[in-house]
Amino acid sequence: MSPANASAARKIRLIMKLRRSGITDTSVLSAIERVPREEFIPDTFIDQAYEDIALPIGRGQTISQPMIVASMTQALEIHDRHKVLEIGTGSGYQAAILARLCRRVYSIERHRPLLDIADARLKDLRIHNITTKAADGMKGWTEQAPFDRIIVTAAASAEPPEPLLDQMSIGGIMIIPMGKQKDEQFIYRVTRTEDGFTCDRLMPVRFVPLLPDVASNHVDSPEKPKTKLRMPTYHSADDPQLVGA
Ligand code: SAH
Repeated sequence: MSPANASAARKIRLIMKLRRSGITDTSVLSAIERVPREEFIPDTFIDQAYEDIALPIGRGQTISQPMIVASMTQALEIHDRHKVLEIGTGSGYQAAILARLCRRVYSIERHRPLLDIADARLKDLRIHNITTKAADGMKGWTEQAPFDRIIVTAAASAEPPEPLLDQMSIGGIMIIPMGKQKDEQFIYRVTRTEDGFTCDRLMPVRFVPLLPDVASNHVDSPEKPKTKLRMPTYHSADDPQLVGA
């Protein structure tokens, strides 16, 4: 089989796995099918682009496991008129998925070098409805609020950051992983109603932490990680083969 055919076969296998695992929203499946995940990861891992695993993207961060991206996106119940805020641009992959489903994505990343790479990629892929900035996403994006949907792709320790709650529109949904890394982490869905907020727990996960402030820039190039790569830490907790370093 040619490399292109092998990659297409892996992609089909992945989509089938997502369907079997409860991803029923065809617009989400179609977005996963159409966004080329191989473009969002370092060359070293190209062969694993369509495995259902998280992969390192530098700076100790990871591109999320496709099953988690699909589950969180499905839980967001996105409409094509929605304005969506993402915290944790990382590789830009989740943003690219969201961009296919909504009107505009605003995405914030605290590691400027990761953001520069993500921006260049999104431009190359001609995805034009994503606006990004390097900042502390825990503060949200006041100038663009309110948001119909908010997705946080790093784990808050205990509670959703207050500014993010404030920046949700009425009827808005936020999907956010919460819990300390060593303890159990879960994805939660927070819904804003006329009277306040409701919150339900969706699934166990393990995410990199949501950290304050913009990261300092003295670490090595994200494209050329040193010999010891940190293992993916962004995956479904019920998949034991992915656990640990
Ligand atoms: N959505 C990404 C996954 C990124 S991993 C993707 O599809 O590739 C989580 C990202 O959140 C990391 O890049 C990390 O630097 C970022 N992050 C953590 N805390 C943050 C904060 N307070 N503001 C913005 N980004 C943050």
